[in-house]
Amino acid sequence: MSQMYEPTNSAFAPLGDEIEPREPQLSDVTVMMVDDEPMMTEVTQTYLEDAGYRLFLSVNDPRQAMEVARTHRPGLILLDLMMPGLNGFDLLTQIRADDQLRYTPVIVLTAASDPSSKLRALELGATEFLSKPVDESELKIRVRNSLAFKVYQDRLANDDPLTGLPNRRVFVEHLQDALSPEESGGHKLALMHLNLDRFRQVNETLGHGAGDTLLSAVAQRLRWATRADHGLIGNRLGDAPVLARLGGDEFGLLMPQIEAPEAAGRVARRILRALAKPFEIDGQDLFITPSIGISVHPDDGADVATLLRNAGVAMRHAKGGGRNGFQFYSERINNISLERLLLETQLRRAIERDELVLHYQPKVSLSTGRIDGAEALLRWQHPELGLVPPARFIPIAEETGLIVEIGEWVVNEACAQIAQWRDGLGVMVKVAVNIARHGLVSGDLTAVVRSAMERHAVAPSQLVLELTESMLMDRVETTAARLAELRALGVELSIDDFGTGYSSMSYLKQFPVQELKIDRSFVNGVPQERTDAAIVRALIVLGHSLDMHVVAEGVETTEQRDALQSLGCDSFQGFLVSRAVPPDEFAARMRLNNSALGR
Ligand code: C2E
Ligand code: MG
Ligand code: MG
Repeated sequence: MSQMYEPTNSAFAPLGDEIEPREPQLSDVTVMMVDDEPMMTEVTQTYLEDAGYRLFLSVNDPRQAMEVARTHRPGLILLDLMMPGLNGFDLLTQIRADDQLRYTPVIVLTAASDPSSKLRALELGATEFLSKPVDESELKIRVRNSLAFKVYQDRLANDDPLTGLPNRRVFVEHLQDALSPEESGGHKLALMHLNLDRFRQVNETLGHGAGDTLLSAVAQRLRWATRADHGLIGNRLGDAPVLARLGGDEFGLLMPQIEAPEAAGRVARRILRALAKPFEIDGQDLFITPSIGISVHPDDGADVATLLRNAGVAMRHAKGGGRNGFQFYSERINNISLERLLLETQLRRAIERDELVLHYQPKVSLSTGRIDGAEALLRWQHPELGLVPPARFIPIAEETGLIVEIGEWVVNEACAQIAQWRDGLGVMVKVAVNIARHGLVSGDLTAVVRSAMERHAVAPSQLVLELTESMLMDRVETTAARLAELRALGVELSIDDFGTGYSSMSYLKQFPVQELKIDRSFVNGVPQERTDAAIVRALIVLGHSLDMHVVAEGVETTEQRDALQSLGCDSFQGFLVSRAVPPDEFAARMRLNNSALGR
């Protein structure tokens, strides 16, 4: 899953490195000032900016004040009383009558010491007074005090005091916002309802004090596992997940943007892992498990009430299903998630059980027609499911980190095969293996490649590593260093699926790459589709201008092959010649093909 919940974009990084949410600062609050004299607002703004308040709104026409305040929801209003058009008393009355602004602190600016207007302003709900001309130090102190009180009140109203998490009301507001058409923008949203199993027993046997300690410890681990940052006063949360205490031993997690429901399943598994370790409460080790229900928008409901209810239904299902687990509301999503979980467990054993195999697809030279190499493509020989294609298990391997181990196996196996063809049949085959994003950056690919080549006495020129374009563009510096290391071993580097990423010429030049593979999607439209043909032509020219060998992927027809040949492409792969086949079959095809050409 590329975007939303992947660590890049990913709001979720591996467990361990916790980042505490930033504490809201007083200076994050917007201060609005209504005064008909621009001089006054300017001076005040300068004073406040000096004190670190960055968000200042000045309104010099009092008739616009209400509209500005409703749109910007300031945390504090400074209000002049004597203004033409609409006086401060009337404005204050309107502010106190407005649902959204009712509790906003208002500091009233009075020209003289006029006890009767002060009294009237107080009656109408003014919080504080400031005399004009404004004294700088007094202004700063009054503003700070009023804001501190507001922040305290907001916290009382929005946060659960025990855990410090947002409360149910705030959670529902976020959910409402996230469901608004302008926010949901076609993405899926997941809602998680978590309930602790047997929490009542903890309360009853160890007492409420222990229960409270446990709840805040659970909240802390949940924060950690979900990386929820519950934001700043008055700031929009955007895409970050929102974790809340819904009440009692119930927690909620809102994931406003997910690419697919499985992402929520992955988060649920992380939560299960995070809570699996014992909690130390009053010197005892306590084990607690959660039951988690997940509803997904739009699949499981369009509105707040339905989504909340269905997450609750799913949670009770999970509880019924033996606790310490999670359940999606929808049967269909549940099945997909279960299947992935099952594949994940089985994939862990696939290597030991020798269930992985490499098949080989020929690479054919367009100038000679000879098979001059092979791409090793991974297959999983599953005991029940049969031959599982990589698209079904590579993403799982990447998410779980198994890809590093699998990648090692692939490199080793490919080298063993090269050696076997050489020693058994006397043929030299140059083999390309695919490297996963994770495989390139985690683990030590250079050492793996070096030792595999040594073990099987394979010459570096026999081995090609295929990397995708997007891998290269990600973390350019680290990647460039890795590639330089690999290239120093003498192996060739190839860019796979070329044309689908966003590489720029200047980057391409930096990488020590010898080959470009034009993505199948462009080859598909050749020669009929004008744009595809133009793109393919451009990619070939680009590759050659950088002294690279250009290979076309996915060639299925003779028309495609002929068109590519006339465009000057160097080699191709595709069903036209052969699918990926087991090693013996590959060797037989290669011998047949090349001897027909008189090798
Ligand atoms: P890829 O490296 O771009 O591999 C080419 C894919 O296109 C292969 O699918 C191949 O069977 C398929 N293909 C080849 N010729 C044709 C054709 O003429 N028409 C059509 N429609 N398809 C063709 P496969 O084997 O399912 O592999 C899919 C992807 O899985 C690969 O894309 C690669 O990204 C990944 N993969 C495969 N093996 C490995 C591996 O050992 N390690 C890693 N990390 N990824 C692998
Ligand atoms: Mg490939
Ligand atoms: Mg490819």
